Amino acid sequence: MPELVLPSKVTICEVAPRDGFQAETNWIPTEEKIRIIRALADTGVQSMEITSFVHPKAIPQLKDAEEVVRGTEDLTNLKFRALVPNVKGAERAINAGITKLKLMLSATDSHSLSNANSLVEKVQNGFEPIIEMATKSNVTVGGSISVAFGCPYEGKVSLERIIDIVDRYKGMGIEEVSLADTTGMANPIQVYHFLGKLKAEFPNTVFSMHLHNTRGMALANAFAALQQGVTLFDSSIAGLGGCPYAPGASGNIATEDLVHAFEEMGISTGMDLDRLVSTAKEVKRSIGHDGGSYMLQAGPCSALSPEPKAQEKIDI
Ligand code: ZN
Repeated sequence: MPELVLPSKVTICEVAPRDGFQAETNWIPTEEKIRIIRALADTGVQSMEITSFVHPKAIPQLKDAEEVVRGTEDLTNLKFRALVPNVKGAERAINAGITKLKLMLSATDSHSLSNANSLVEKVQNGFEPIIEMATKSNVTVGGSISVAFGCPYEGKVSLERIIDIVDRYKGMGIEEVSLADTTGMANPIQVYHFLGKLKAEFPNTVFSMHLHNTRGMALANAFAALQQGVTLFDSSIAGLGGCPYAPGASGNIATEDLVHAFEEMGISTGMDLDRLVSTAKEVKRSIGHDGGSYMLQAGPCSALSPEPKAQEKIDI
C-alpha cells in the first residue's frame, strides 16, 4: 500500500451566517447575527461567507445583508465573501464593501429551475457582467456548483456535466470553484474520483468542498477530498444549514466536527476547538437547535471520562 500523503494544513470557511441562517424560518435579529459572527471571528477562522445578496423576497432572513456587513466591517483579519445570484446582488455586495463574491449555480437543470428559475447554461452566461463589474472594482469572484454530486430531482450527476461547467467557469476567468454536496448525496469514492479527474483536467483551478451531512457521509467525503489535496473546506457552526427537502435532517458539516477530525489527524486548521464548541453551544441556545453536531453530543476525544471504580466495571 502506498503511504498516505495528506496536506498538513487546511483553511475553513465558516458558512453559518449564510447557509445556516437562510435555513431558519424564525427571524434572527440583525444584532444577534452580528453577535454570532463576532463570536465566530474569535475562533481563529480566517474566512467566512457572511451573507447572500439575494432578493429580500426570495430569502427574507438575509434581507439585512448590508446591515450585517456594516456591523462587522471592523473584523479586518477575516476574509469575508458573499453569495450573489445575479447582477443586482453583485452590485449590492460590491457597494457594501464585499471583496469576494461567490456565484450560485446548480449542476442540473431541474435544480436550477427550482432554485434560480432558469436553466444552468442561461444562469452561467448571466455571470459575465458580474465578473466584469467585479474586475473593475478589484473584487475576486469564485464559482460554485450546487448538487455537484447528486441532485434530489435527477439523481447522480455525471462527471462530464461538472467538467463542462468548470470549463465554462474557466473560460470566464474563474480560478476557484466550490463543489457543493447540497443535499448530502455524495460518497467518498465519487468525491475522490471527481476530484482526481477535475485536477487533471484543470490543473490551475482551485477546488473547494462544501459538504452537507444529510446522510452522515460528510466527514468521509472531506477525507476523500483531502486525499486529493483539497485544502479549502466550508463548514457551519453547530451544523446549521438544514436540508430544504428533508426538514429536521442534518445540515452542513459542523465546523467543530470538521476541525476536531482534522486536528485529531494532525492537520492544522489554525482554529481553537474549545472556543468553537462553546460558540456552537451559544449558537444552539440562540437559534433554538443545532443541525447535528457530534461535538455538542459527545465532546472531543481529548475530553476523557474519569475511570470507573473497579466494582463498577462491567465485564464483557
Ligand atoms: Zn450548503
